[in-house]
Amino acid sequence: MSEAPGPTKAHDPVSGAPVRVAFVALGSNVGERFEHLHAAARGLGAMPATTIVGCSSIFETAPMGAAKFEFLNAVIALKTVVAPLPMLDVLLQLERSRGRARDEKWGPRTLDLDLLAMYGDEGPLAVTHPRLTLPHPGITARDFVLRPLMEIAPSLQVAGQRLDHHLATLPKSARTVRGRHGLPLLERAPFGVSVPLLEGG
Ligand code: AMP
Repeated sequence: MSEAPGPTKAHDPVSGAPVRVAFVALGSNVGERFEHLHAAARGLGAMPATTIVGCSSIFETAPMGAAKFEFLNAVIALKTVVAPLPMLDVLLQLERSRGRARDEKWGPRTLDLDLLAMYGDEGPLAVTHPRLTLPHPGITARDFVLRPLMEIAPSLQVAGQRLDHHLATLPKSARTVRGRHGLPLLERAPFGVSVPLLEGG
């Protein structure tokens, strides 16, 4: 006799919604940059049924393109029941709450949040929607994303390759990280992600 399909361990026991691991990139290059990142990290951790399961160092990054100011960049991992599009809405709301204006593409930005990827029971989610592409197509092209992501999820694979492979094959022009900022983004946040969902990436 076969068992009735029930919620797996990767479903929230209360809502039945799938539990996934989301990786979010944070960046700021104007104003109180550390404060912008810190507020965003706290806002992400305050989403419903969400736990921060990984938090990278903060990296100091040279501006790309026409941007003039140095960035601070980091990546956070969340275990969450929040679905991809509602999460994008939270990211945009957090950007607005820090005074983000969407004008120049490479212009100064108080806060830039990107949803890099989400992993569930089914593996990495592939989303192609007018408002959202997952995995984020820029992950493999930027060392300021790859390096913090490697800190917290070194075994992750993107586009069929490990993160260290993508980093090693980046052209010099895409290497913008100058070093690590001294302060931790969040006190007491776990550094590495150890989540069975990521096994085999
Ligand atoms: P930008 O702030 O320049 O990175 O662009 C943000 C816009 O990109 C948002 O309004 C989203 O609709 C769109 N977008 C598409 N895919 C993603 C993603 N994976 N993460 C964040 N924004 C995304």
